[in-house]
Amino acid sequence: MMHGNLVCTQCTNHFSLTDKIWKCHCGALLDIEFNAEFPIDEIAKRSTSIWRYKEAIPVPDSHIISFSEGFTSLEDAFLYNIPLLIKHDYLFPTSSFKDRGASVLISKISEMGINVIVEDSSGNAGTSIAAYAAKAGIRCRIIAPSNSSKSKQNQIITYGAELELLKGDREKVATEALKEAENTYYASHSWNPFFFQGTKTIAFEISEQMGWKAPDSIIVPLGNGTLVLGVYLGFKDLQKAGIITRLPRIIAVQASECAPVYNAIEHIKNPEYNKSIAEGISVQNPVRKDQIIEAIGATEGCVYAASDNEINMALKHLYSKGYYVEPTSAVVVGALRRINPKMRGDTSVLVLTGHGLKHSFSQL
Ligand SMILES: *Cc1c(COP(=O)(O)O)cnc(C)c1O
Ligand SMILES: [Zn+2]
Repeated sequence: MMHGNLVCTQCTNHFSLTDKIWKCHCGALLDIEFNAEFPIDEIAKRSTSIWRYKEAIPVPDSHIISFSEGFTSLEDAFLYNIPLLIKHDYLFPTSSFKDRGASVLISKISEMGINVIVEDSSGNAGTSIAAYAAKAGIRCRIIAPSNSSKSKQNQIITYGAELELLKGDREKVATEALKEAENTYYASHSWNPFFFQGTKTIAFEISEQMGWKAPDSIIVPLGNGTLVLGVYLGFKDLQKAGIITRLPRIIAVQASECAPVYNAIEHIKNPEYNKSIAEGISVQNPVRKDQIIEAIGATEGCVYAASDNEINMALKHLYSKGYYVEPTSAVVVGALRRINPKMRGDTSVLVLTGHGLKHSFSQL
């Protein structure tokens, strides 16, 4: 029996962790209240997967759906002569960090005995959910915009998921998914709070790899906030458990062409939204936008926006140094030289999120 609750972010409703709901009856987002524990000596003896932190993940270990993923390397390196710790978080079974969230969410879905799910995603979240659903034997339907990446569409179908392509933007796709989710279970990487209980494991790994300490800052891409909020939740768990004292500053980077959080923080009125080469983070209305702004503020972090030109230059710099990532991942390097060194601090982790092979395949 797992202790903890699903809690509404708007009203006072509490639900059991085993209730088959992904939003509150009042319609608002749910979060999870749960006391994460870190038996450090035990953890050190376990295999190098996200599930080595099982006492910090609110899913019983009888239902784990895992490829033994995670514990990606943390490398001492320089980019543009700036010292960094690079977290290679594209080194996952489906080639993006979203597998962290998918492993935990699909494990939870398997525990609840649900066998049909729906998810909307133009890319990596869809491929991760499709892969873990395949492993769990769960029927999976992914709704995506018809103009989304062909290589990711192909990856989704290859895992045996049903792919429904819709004309129109991501908002229209999200609306359709919400409609279909009324009759099935919504395995959404933005709505479902269990997804974030997976993405938070990146914080545990970084901390353990640094000798159970926290860096001064962590630089991450920002779209729907699965990584920003994961980093925040994870380091907060470590703080609550008394392992670290201070949260690292979250330095989030958006694509200038689609930067709703940056625009909100900078009070930019009537912003324009256009297509960006950072397609994986081009999200106009992230459902957890208020939480994202709160999390960044609570760590005394900040948000930058990188132009497509900067992202392209950054991608070339990464390639020239031997790093092969997809364009979305280069957004953090696009803003890197403009980040205030005081914000960065002495130890700064930069997260690379999606593998370059995902993209080059679509160019053939
Ligand atoms: C999902 C994703 C991100 C981060 O986006 P969020 O929606 O904010 O979590 C970054 N890079 C890649 C390659 C992604 O797929
Ligand atoms: Zn509610």
